[in-house]
Amino acid sequence: MSKSSSSQVITCKAAICWGIGEPLKVEEIQVEPPKSFEIRVKMLLASLCHTDILFAKGFPTVSTTSCLTSYELCFTILKEPLFPRVLGHEGVGEVESIGEGVKDLEEGDLVIPTYLGECQECENCKSGKTNLCLKYPLILSGLMPDGTSRMSINGRKVYQLTTCSTWSEYTVINANYVVKINPSIDLSHASFLSCGFSTGFGSAWREANVERGSSVAVIGLGAVGLGAIEGARKQGASKIIGIDKNEKKREKGEAFGMTDFINPEGNSQKPISELMKDLTGGMGVDYCFECTGVASFVNEALLATKPGKGETIVVGAGTDPTVPVNFLPLVLGGTLKGSVFGGLKIKSDLPILLDKCKNKEFPLDELFTHEVTLEDINKTFELLKQPECVKVVIKI
Ligand SMILES: [Zn+2]
Ligand SMILES: [Zn+2]
Repeated sequence: MSKSSSSQVITCKAAICWGIGEPLKVEEIQVEPPKSFEIRVKMLLASLCHTDILFAKGFPTVSTTSCLTSYELCFTILKEPLFPRVLGHEGVGEVESIGEGVKDLEEGDLVIPTYLGECQECENCKSGKTNLCLKYPLILSGLMPDGTSRMSINGRKVYQLTTCSTWSEYTVINANYVVKINPSIDLSHASFLSCGFSTGFGSAWREANVERGSSVAVIGLGAVGLGAIEGARKQGASKIIGIDKNEKKREKGEAFGMTDFINPEGNSQKPISELMKDLTGGMGVDYCFECTGVASFVNEALLATKPGKGETIVVGAGTDPTVPVNFLPLVLGGTLKGSVFGGLKIKSDLPILLDKCKNKEFPLDELFTHEVTLEDINKTFELLKQPECVKVVIKI
């Protein structure tokens, strides 16, 4: 086995989050060379996903080396969030150096980082029921899988975000948490596929496995919701209802195959579950995807599904630890479920999506509304509040 292809510490710029609600500071950090089974990546582009904002607010973090392999650990939410920290979990970069033992990757390869791995051997990977690999799990400790960080600032440890930390000129990633991409893929499109759009698409494709001819509703038309619409269209859904309080999302939804649009801020005082039923002859929809993370919408989604066989899929992450739901739809046979990353497996499923992306099967340019440089990263949070904004690309 060859040694790491670099033994040099790199000093580079990164956007650091120093505390809850504080603006990010672009500062010089030190990024160590990759250890065994790790790669160091020169980030080219990144983008902002809703979950980054939750992490900037300090949620959710769990104790030291824990990871999402049991509910018990998930509930161990610390009162003290992890700072200083480099956020960002969407992006695309070029492999700068590789650690000992890394196979299948070379310097110069283009990769997208992921926050889940897929070993294809553990109980979960073999179950066919979940993408939550037990060997390469979702890590919320802010550290590498070995419990240490490769980032520091003036000797002080800098926490990372999951296995990604893409808002930095360089980042070190365990090689089990990246997917190599074809160089012909548009880099901004690849960045969108590393979380948001894929999460939505996967929820319709892999998690719900939407049937041909079925009716679908999607609450929240950001990149995740638009991905769910695209996934439902590809699955052959005949009616796809989009719900968003922002009128400008109507044309975005239509570009991805939405057939009906509901703006709840319109003239109706009805709850959105009733508005969805009105569009389906009172029956409700076969599948409803909740993509906003707003707790009360989970129950609205559940009430909007067909009695007995409707499925509600919770896709958006929120800050409320619990969600009250009306139990009647469940007792009558309805299904309420959720997944991380739309149930997509990074080795089995994500390359299929990337292939579709390479063949330009998705209108992903519709997502790309703004671009900033890493120096101007704080503008991203303001841009996201604008009605026409879907995705902000950050040039690293
Ligand atoms: Zn995300
Ligand atoms: Zn596994």
